[in-house]
Order: sequence, then structure tokens, then C-alpha cells
Amino acid sequence: MFDKVLIANRGEIALRIHRACREMGIHTVAVHSTADENAMHVRLADESVCIGPAPSADSYLNIPNIVSAAMITGAEAIHPGYGFLSENAYFAEIVEAHGIAFIGPSPQHIQTMGDKVAAKKTMIEAGVPVVPGSEGAVGSPEDARQTAESIGYPVLIKASGGGGGKGMKVAETAETLAEQINLARREAKANFGDESVYLEKYLANPRHIELQIVADEQGGVVHLGERDCSLQRKHQKVLEEAPSPALNAAERERLGEIGCTAIRRLGYRNAGTLEFLYENGEFYFIEMNTRLQVEHPVSEAISGIDIVREQIRIAAGAPLSFRQKDIDFQGHAIECRINAEDPATFAPWPGRIVEYHPPGGLGVRVDSGLYAGYSVPPYYDSMIAKLIVHGATRNECLMRLRRALEEFVITGVRTTIPLHQELTAQSDFINGRYDIRWLEDYVAGQAAV
Ligand code: ADP
Repeated sequence: MFDKVLIANRGEIALRIHRACREMGIHTVAVHSTADENAMHVRLADESVCIGPAPSADSYLNIPNIVSAAMITGAEAIHPGYGFLSENAYFAEIVEAHGIAFIGPSPQHIQTMGDKVAAKKTMIEAGVPVVPGSEGAVGSPEDARQTAESIGYPVLIKASGGGGGKGMKVAETAETLAEQINLARREAKANFGDESVYLEKYLANPRHIELQIVADEQGGVVHLGERDCSLQRKHQKVLEEAPSPALNAAERERLGEIGCTAIRRLGYRNAGTLEFLYENGEFYFIEMNTRLQVEHPVSEAISGIDIVREQIRIAAGAPLSFRQKDIDFQGHAIECRINAEDPATFAPWPGRIVEYHPPGGLGVRVDSGLYAGYSVPPYYDSMIAKLIVHGATRNECLMRLRRALEEFVITGVRTTIPLHQELTAQSDFINGRYDIRWLEDYVAGQAAV
């Protein structure tokens, strides 16, 4: 096992990784920008190295500085967390070239799955159902028009290099296709440096259901159940739950089969997530995330598996310590992403935390680097805490979630806690009847009142 791991991230996920390392007796190295000198993960880590100024491009995305920090401190492995360099195949390659273990999949798998066109092609070959769409990136406007015609309108234009919902546009009719493609190309170029786009059938009312996988170097593949991430705003997840209230036992089993078979065929290692849209009893693959995800704790809650611990063990060459039949799913879990934002307008709200009192009690977990007196910097993602609640049934989980939200005190900045309180009181949510459009419609309805 490793003696020392460098954590190439910040915020709650850096702390989450630190916790797993500590419990495994592994020393930690935190890296941080000048804006994060006083961050909780920096305070708790055994060592810390400043890797640059506040903007991410100069610090958390600064490959030479991060690799140098690992070399200087003698870290044997790097955990990239999520976001930042976690899905950068070049980073994984450079890390390995320096004799440091990358806690994640091989650079080749990151590369393939990071190109959504290649990912879809690979999944089709592995027998996974995908959303009907163009075969690869679209070429000339005429080619695009013909493809869209054969898929049927409305069509969704997606960036090959996409992520975070960027570079995604809907063309309702043939008249708007060319214009929407141009808009998508421009956004894709600006965000990912690659203007290639592809077309997909725009599903009307799907749910977003994803499967958590862990796989070792020895060919062991286990899924940790599905997560329902349909509550989204601007294609960004707001609340996630496991299991999905929409699936029956047979569908759940089918999803697990599809996912594990594909992962085995790919020869993929470490943790990963297969994302699907689910409509009328069918699953359609949309993308694979080759990293730890923000919402991983709901899967940990129902499976009892520490996913970060497994990631570290796998990277050290150890086989999974369990098989599929050992996983005994228990109860229901829900995660709320709490952002430093105005709960009505979603405007970011960085600033100094005055009071901080997280909820507690049975079945309540809070992953956050916050403390009273901490200043939320304006440079990074606005998520400041995750509240994860586990209960024996969905109803118990929901009641527990509501009381936990009520207890949660964060003052000094605005947060989305009131939004979660509102959402969890809606009858559609209580009844598990929501799809990927539900939240947008709800927010639009509230704004109109
Ligand atoms: P990104 O990597 O940018 O997040 P995804 O492919 O994961 O993009 O899609 C993000 C979200 O966009 C999905 O969760 C879903 O809400 C919506 N979406 C993606 N593909 C489709 C589709 N074909 N039809 C309808 N909605 C879609």
C-alpha cells in the first residue's frame, strides 16, 4: 500500500480523500492555490504545497507544479478527485511517466471516454444501448440536415469534447438546425478547444439514471447500484438519490448487467460511472465519467462500500475485497448539493462564513470544508457542502432529510438550503415523479409568480 498520497484538488472532495487516506494509515499531501491557504484540507493534511495563484489555470490545472509537488514530497500516488485534472489523459500519463501512481483509470480509457463520439462508438461495440443519433461527428450542413432528418426532430447537438452541459443546443426544426449547430460549435471551441459536434435524438421526458462501477486490475467488476440524478438545472445535478424511485427490480438488474458486461469488455479499471437516460422502460447510454463523482456518497450509503478507499486499493494493485453477491443494498439515500448561491436567482454568493452548524444524528453525513470564519473564495465552483441522508425506506430518508435541512445553519453567505427545503416538500418529489425537465419547469414557474 502507498505510504503517501497527494490530493490534487480542493474543497469537500479534497477533505473526503484525506479522510479515506487517514483511515488507511496513509500520509497526505495537500496542494493549494494562494486563495486556499486556510482551507480545511490544507490544515488537516500532513504536508501542504502552494502550487500557484488563485485562478485554476495557474494552480489546480498546473500540471508541472502538481507533479513537482509530488516529487518533492515523495508522494507515491496522486488522487485527482473530480473536475480539474481528473479527466485529463495527458495528466494521468505524465503522472505515470514520473513513476507516480494515478488513482484512476488508464490514460487510454480516460482519452476514449473523454471524446463522447469515441465513447458512444465504444459502448455500441460493447453491446450497450445508446441514444439514436449521428454516427460520429457531423460534417457539412447538408450532412447534418440529412442526419437530423433521419433521427427526427427535435434533435440535440452535443460537443464531442463536452462536459458540464456546455456546447449543448436543441434544434426544434430543420429551419433552426444550422444556426444551433453554429452556436454549439462556438461554445464547444471556447470551452473544450474542439468544435466538433454530434447529433442525438432529443428525448422528451427522460430520467437521468447512472450506474456506479468499481473494477480492479485482476478483472473483478462490481456495480454499486444506480443513482437517479434527474433533478437538474442547466444540465447540472442539484439532488441525487439511490436507488431510483423509477426502476423496478428487473430493470435494476438489467442495468447492472449491461454496465458490468461493458466494463469487463473494455478492461476498465478503478471507479467509473455509466450515465444513461431512461424513458419508457429503456436505457440509453449518454456518457461515461472516468472518475469519482460528486454524488458517490449515496452509493456508499446504500452499499456500505467506501469508494475512495477502493480506488486507492485498486491503484496500489490490490483486488476488490468483495464480489457482486457480497453487496447487500440497504435502504435509501439522498444527497443535496448545497451551493453558495442565491436560492432564487442562483447568482454565486462568495464571502465569509459567520456561523456554521451542520446537522447530525443517525443516518446524516455532511461532506464540507466549511467552518465559521472561513471565506468562500470567488474563483471556484460554488458548491460548499453536500448533505447525504440515509434511511431504511425512501420515506424515512425524506423525513430525515427535511429535519436535517432544518438544522443546517450557514450564515454570512446565501445558500441553496431553502431551495432544497422547498423541493423536498413538493408532492412530485415526494412521490418520486420527476424527470430531467421537472426542476427547470419548477424554477420557471416560481420566477413567474
Ligand atoms: P455533459 O457531459 O455536458 O454533462 P451529458 O451527455 O452527460 O453532458 O448530458 C447532460 C444532461 O443533458 C443529461 O443528464 C440530460 O439531462 C441532458 N441530455 C443529454 N442528452 C440528452 C438527450 N439525448 N435528450 C434529452 N436530454 C439529454
